[in-house]
Amino acid sequence: MKIAVAKGDGIGPEIMDAVLKVFDANKIDLKYEFVEMGKWVFDKGFSNGMTPEAQRTIEELGILFKGPMETPKGKGVKSVNVTARKTWNTYANKRVFQSLHGVDTVFSKAAIPIDLTIVRENIEDTYGGIEHMLTHDVALSRRFITRPGSMQVIRYAFEMARKKNARRITCGHKANIMKLTDGLFLDCFYEVAKEYPELKADDKIVDDLAMKLVVSPDEFDVVVLTNLQGDIISDLCAGLVGGLGFAPSANIGDHISIFEAVHGTAPDIAGRNIANPTALLLSGIAMLRHLGLMENAAIIENALLYTLEQGVRTGDFGDRSKPALNTTEFADAIISNF
Ligand code: NAD
Repeated sequence: MKIAVAKGDGIGPEIMDAVLKVFDANKIDLKYEFVEMGKWVFDKGFSNGMTPEAQRTIEELGILFKGPMETPKGKGVKSVNVTARKTWNTYANKRVFQSLHGVDTVFSKAAIPIDLTIVRENIEDTYGGIEHMLTHDVALSRRFITRPGSMQVIRYAFEMARKKNARRITCGHKANIMKLTDGLFLDCFYEVAKEYPELKADDKIVDDLAMKLVVSPDEFDVVVLTNLQGDIISDLCAGLVGGLGFAPSANIGDHISIFEAVHGTAPDIAGRNIANPTALLLSGIAMLRHLGLMENAAIIENALLYTLEQGVRTGDFGDRSKPALNTTEFADAIISNF
């Protein structure tokens, strides 16, 4: 089996090398086709951040495992990440947040386990990039929410909730203010809910949802949201389980799926080999399961969980009185626990 791999920008190559080292040590039956994609490719003159050859390879193989890619703020440069999601219509962004032994949080100290899945619509909303200056002093952005786009991501969320035997599925929205756009998304949610009577379906206004997730995250199970609200809420959930270093993500489409960490290129620590590769490794484990490589996924996941339980840490988490390992040493510690 072959997958496309893009190492990305910033800490991307460091964490990707660490994760592939763990994969290789487990002798996974998987070959990698490294593709040119990222801000560095944009800088070489490719306006969508990837070479035509990279695009061909990804479309042929159907799976992209990617490191984070930089998007400079402000005008001029399109996000390579958003372009990739749109190009391949990866309409559902699934982000799983689970308490991990060895990663202390206020909730783990209070023995409150967290197991939350956020499904974020991945193509529409303000991420359509339809913005212009109305006058020198007025910038205008358009937000679009469509019935087909909403139905496909909501249906994905319900199917996934059914498969994982979820007890509850919640729609986050702001339909009290954005009555047409979020109103449409919410209508679609309850329309699909009728097909899944075994699931408790409810909705929460997104600001209230943010507060309730912080106060009682164990009351939630699967939460589906529009793009921008989903982006913000999923970073909040990463904070609940120990930070961005522990937040994996899968961008699911009908033909192509992209597996990556939630976090970005971490320019403040890039080039020092100190980043935490856990989020990318968890994304990689989800990818192995997606590919049917269940045994490899289980061995690597158990080794990772055991390593964390032992108190092994990178600098961004854990008991500060214990020494922190660098990215490569952390990968080696996981391998030693196979
Ligand atoms: P960021 O996620 O890169 O960093 C936020 C903070 O978290 C930083 O302090 C960083 O050091 C820390 N951090 C992130 N990942 C870490 C890890 N694995 N180990 C240890 N610490 C980690 O967010 P940002 O600074 O807002 O964004 C930087 C760049 O990344 C921007 O260009 C942004 O557009 C891009 N970005 C890309 C993706 C993606 O490729 N999917 C996602 C988010 C942001």
